[in-house]
Amino acid sequence: MEHWKEQLDGWYEEQVETRHRLHGSPELPYEERETTRFLKETLTDWGIRVEELPGLETGVSAVIEGAHPGPMLVLREDIDALPIQENTGLEFASRQAGVSHACGHDIHTTALLYAARSLLGQRDKLHGSVKLIFQCAEEVGSGAYKMLEAGALQNCQPQAVVGFHCAPLLELGKIGVRRGPSNASFDIFTWTITGQGGHGAYPYRCVDPVVVSAYLITQLQTVVSRFNCPLYPAVLTVGEIQGGTAPNIIPDQVTMRGSMRAFEPQQRQKMLEQIRRITQDCCSSLGAQGEVKRDVGIPSIISDPEIADGVARAVEESLGKEHLYWLPEPSMGSDDFSVWMEACNGRGVQFSVGTHDPACPNSGLGIHVAENIFPDSALKYAAPVLVQFALDYLGK
Ligand SMILES: [Zn+2]
Ligand SMILES: [Zn+2]
Repeated sequence: MEHWKEQLDGWYEEQVETRHRLHGSPELPYEERETTRFLKETLTDWGIRVEELPGLETGVSAVIEGAHPGPMLVLREDIDALPIQENTGLEFASRQAGVSHACGHDIHTTALLYAARSLLGQRDKLHGSVKLIFQCAEEVGSGAYKMLEAGALQNCQPQAVVGFHCAPLLELGKIGVRRGPSNASFDIFTWTITGQGGHGAYPYRCVDPVVVSAYLITQLQTVVSRFNCPLYPAVLTVGEIQGGTAPNIIPDQVTMRGSMRAFEPQQRQKMLEQIRRITQDCCSSLGAQGEVKRDVGIPSIISDPEIADGVARAVEESLGKEHLYWLPEPSMGSDDFSVWMEACNGRGVQFSVGTHDPACPNSGLGIHVAENIFPDSALKYAAPVLVQFALDYLGK
């Protein structure tokens, strides 16, 4: 076994300790102050340069310069937790009421931290540099944009980005990789339909936004069914609607919220435009005013085939052939990892690290599930792949 792998194994207990520490004090998006402080302190102690992110309190950007010149590779993980009351019964369970690492980001953070430590010790093998991104606020879909705005990639043009996500539906020890469409885009909308309220007995003196919103919801069904090419999966859901106070009063306004997921960027753009047009035209045809605002907009993850092959090789080299699993289908779930990919001209892959241990049934429930257990031993498989990929990518 190569020296660095032995060394990573040797740090296993320390990794578990770090993971338990993070797991016990989870922090919500943009509130990851303690996690950020801990990461900055640890990285600095080890001699890794932490960069300034003016105006952003959470999230960490750091750099490991290789001994030789060359391109920059980004390794990115996320550090935030979810507003879910943990119900795992684990000894190291969350001590924060109503907040937990139910998406496994504590494993992500720990694995990247120790991958960084390993790479720091192997600078002589690196032709180029490794940018470490410990991203804040993934769960609300805006952390990646905020870190970019704060200058996380300022004055550099990274060539590729790699990271991983824990996968409770994949067996522990397996690393899932895909080429091409992997995760859906995610757009969240708020609609405001403004009419003219009045007495329910005299609708002709009003503009009824309840009727208009009902009409709008039915017309929005044509966005996917009539404007999206059926060869590309997409889904649009209106999941919230609010308006009115009494059965005999026509309100002034109705608000609705909904979300869309898609894979193909051009189809997504076409549907985004169509949502705007339908909103305006449907509402104005009935005398109301329709407005739609996009609250979140995350692109899809289309895994770069070349990088995917590189990750697959890294899995085989660092863990062994039997650990590689080509994922048969994409996921409708989203991750703003895609925003970093966009910044790297699409050259990136977010692989899956299996966390389902058949001996522990609760490890296979799924992400964002209060009872789901992410086993510590996932740490044995995550960091080696990150390190091996970086060594291969920035090797001579
Ligand atoms: Zn999540
Ligand atoms: Zn996640």
